[in-house]
Amino acid sequence: MLTCADSHVAPEWIFDAAPNNLFVIRSAGNTAFDEAIASMEYSVSILGCPLIMVMGHSSCGAIQAARRHAPLSPLLKQLVEPIRDTLTPEHNLMESIQANARQTSSQLTQRSELMALAHRSSRLNIVSNYFDIASGQVSLR
Ligand SMILES: [Zn+2]
Repeated sequence: MLTCADSHVAPEWIFDAAPNNLFVIRSAGNTAFDEAIASMEYSVSILGCPLIMVMGHSSCGAIQAARRHAPLSPLLKQLVEPIRDTLTPEHNLMESIQANARQTSSQLTQRSELMALAHRSSRLNIVSNYFDIASGQVSLR
């Protein structure tokens, strides 16, 4: 699971999972930085993980920051620029969050030959979803 670092988005709590049941990578805005992709490659190739979820969430501060176009430090710029690439003017915040999660999930097979091969051979499913903090609901997007 690749999800946001926001403290409201604790995957083990959301999915009622034991601490050892999920392989979780977290970054602000659930961005797929190189080390995150390498970690997912490990989970697929060594642990045999059959499913990767990229989960965005309501009121995501990273997506809000990307939408504001405020000045950023060089490292924050690295984090936010891929999010900005997914934004369109007609999207509201929720649509932007969902579009970012979808784009991130599609990037995984584009940036990782290992995951692309596993996906093509049906050993790996990749989905994006949206967690609504207020309701506690997760929906596929
Ligand atoms: Zn967030």
